[in-house]
Amino acid sequence: MVNQRSPQRRRTRRDLLGALGVACLTGGAGCLGSDAVAEDPTDEQTPDDTGDDTETTSPPGVELGAETFEDVAALEAVGGRLAADTERRVTGTQCAALETDGDGAWLHVPLAEPVDFSNARPACHVAIDGAAAGDFLYLDLVDADGNRFRTRTVVRSRGELVNVDFGILDPQVDETAVDLERITRLSFRPGPRNEAGPETVYLDHPRRIPAPETAKVVFQFDDGNETDLTEAHPYLSQYDYPAITYVNTNRVGDDGKLDEAQLAELRDANWLVGSHTPDHTDLTTVSEPAEVERRLREAKEWLVDRGFDEGARHFAYPYNAVNEQVLSVVEEIHDTGRVSSWQPVALPSNLQLIPAEGDPTPAAFSELLEWTVEYGGVVTVLHHSLSTDAEVAAFREIVDEVRRHDRLGNVDVVRLDELESMVERTLS
Ligand SMILES: [Zn+2]
Repeated sequence: MVNQRSPQRRRTRRDLLGALGVACLTGGAGCLGSDAVAEDPTDEQTPDDTGDDTETTSPPGVELGAETFEDVAALEAVGGRLAADTERRVTGTQCAALETDGDGAWLHVPLAEPVDFSNARPACHVAIDGAAAGDFLYLDLVDADGNRFRTRTVVRSRGELVNVDFGILDPQVDETAVDLERITRLSFRPGPRNEAGPETVYLDHPRRIPAPETAKVVFQFDDGNETDLTEAHPYLSQYDYPAITYVNTNRVGDDGKLDEAQLAELRDANWLVGSHTPDHTDLTTVSEPAEVERRLREAKEWLVDRGFDEGARHFAYPYNAVNEQVLSVVEEIHDTGRVSSWQPVALPSNLQLIPAEGDPTPAAFSELLEWTVEYGGVVTVLHHSLSTDAEVAAFREIVDEVRRHDRLGNVDVVRLDELESMVERTLS
């Protein structure tokens, strides 16, 4: 087991925010859009957040799964209003709707039986709607003593409930390490927002997603840069590490971009060549679903026609831009989709929203990798062009760190389609 945590893992909030500033902001260079990460909320503002064991009432608790939100009277909302919503649901007759006007609302879900999250992480169907709807949702795994393991996700759906995976944000919120083997409560909290106003978080069918026995790392590259072949491939191939490059098919052969022969060379070296649309369009700006579909099919056919049919099953959203419309078209045309979100997740239980970390610093990546090794799961690391010495050095440092853990037996590097098969085997 890998659950023993030493006291020195306890971080100050400032340390955590510092690490997040590097690890989780997705703007900056390259093609990632900005997910405008607001400040992490201070726990002190929330009324029922002391973690002590002086609760006067002890609700009987609910089962984790399809029935969790069938009886909202068994749940406890703090700082918000809880209702049942029968329009949106993926299981049963209703979902839970947590309405709030400000930051700091919680929905506590007491579990009838303790659940073992020691080598697992949560997933849940979520939509966030309202005049000031935010993009983030926290989920704390809480043990009987009130110690918390904090996870987080990005929510890209306003109307329809979409399954999202939660990645680690802070494995030890409190002084005492949480007993992950016996989680007795899930506590959801809408993330901080950039504007004030009403927001409703819809939740249904929370699940425990088991992590693979050995942690996994997936290497990915966006935009089809020539440095995939000249810098990344030679370094990864020392250890036979595979990867995927997502290309803009209209830009293949442009200055600084891979040409067809180079793509074939990568494919023959065990890389996948996936789609990043023909021309890097933000698909959320395309109003007609038929037009989104036309663009996705064009890029996919280009790849298939040139023998990249294995990779053509895989897609990366330009600028991380995805909404329900884009998601539903991608589901029709591709077997996987990649965005940036919190990691490490246990496994990407929604293969159309596989989370990745874009161009991390070696220090930020190293922490993610340590969490992945310690708590289980998958970390997907995404790079763009490796065109400066500093970018090449940082990339190599990341690969070296993976290699170090690989030699210790802590991680396996897998190709995206291996991860996909793992998900299908585990969760089907
Ligand atoms: Zn891109």
